[in-house]
Amino acid sequence: MSAYTHETVLSVRHWTATLFSFTTTRSPSFQFSNGQFTMIGLETDGRPLVRAYSMASANYEDTLEFFSIKVPDGPLTSRLQLIKESDRILVSRKPTGTLVIHNLLPGRFLYLLSTGTGLAPFMSVIRDPEIYERYEKVVLVHGCRQIAELAYGERIVEDLPQDELIGEYVRDQLIYYPTVTREPFHNRGRITDLVTTGQLCRDVALPPLDNALDRVMLCGSPQMLKDMRSVLEERGFVEGCASEPGQFVLERAFVER
Ligand SMILES: Cc1cc2nc3c(=O)[nH]c(=O)nc-3n(C[C@H](O)[C@H](O)[C@H](O)COP(=O)(O)OP(=O)(O)OC[C@H]3O[C@@H](n4cnc5c(N)ncnc54)[C@H](O)[C@@H]3O)c2cc1C
Repeated sequence: MSAYTHETVLSVRHWTATLFSFTTTRSPSFQFSNGQFTMIGLETDGRPLVRAYSMASANYEDTLEFFSIKVPDGPLTSRLQLIKESDRILVSRKPTGTLVIHNLLPGRFLYLLSTGTGLAPFMSVIRDPEIYERYEKVVLVHGCRQIAELAYGERIVEDLPQDELIGEYVRDQLIYYPTVTREPFHNRGRITDLVTTGQLCRDVALPPLDNALDRVMLCGSPQMLKDMRSVLEERGFVEGCASEPGQFVLERAFVER
């Protein structure tokens, strides 16, 4: 059996010159936990050209959704950004990843802190009814340079309150906090600064971060992860994994090559 399934592209949406998202068919045999990633890509010259991608759709949906960067001259994304309806993509049968609910201890509030396409796994996590059973409030933070880069998250978060399955949870328990660094906006600044100064908690009207009660998932640039890991560890947060759930978990949104 091939390591990949062939899925058909159902829709493509270009958000900005550097960001797009697309949906595909989903093989019934492809099972994953919300927050996981898998390898996806295109067949070029008879060989798979694949990269890690988080599923941005929930694990109970019939279709798959991905949120992608367009890297100029990127081996995969210079081609992937040209896909259109009815094209075929490869999806690895083996999802994996650390941003899953069972790697975290139960708690009071769950913070999902993302930059750029690091939002993708959290679009899956915030559609999971179980997180609203486990945590009183779920705070989704998305940091970008420019307002236009927030568009994908904003649209979906605006639609979710109407969702049949999770709309009520979202209305009562989800707090969406977009922030930008390079333009005037109602929330401004880097996530690390917003956490260390206490501005984030003040803005969402929640008590200061407390490792005894609060849980954190991080997905973003290597620098954001390095900085936020130090901030959390200084405050006594312990990283979790599958064998030992903890108070925070993290995943890289991309690797510097
Ligand atoms: C665990 C994991 C999950 C990932 N999930 C996603 C996802 O959901 N969506 C997504 O678009 N990418 C994701 N990536 C990155 C993805 O695997 C590829 O790097 C990306 O698609 C670019 O591929 P490429 O072949 O065009 O360029 P590459 O040769 O892979 O990358 C070239 C350079 O582009 C930059 N870059 C790559 N990806 C990004 C990005 N997402 N944001 C900002 N800069 C980037 C880096 O500087 C990198 O060195 C993930 C990576 C990892 C490790």
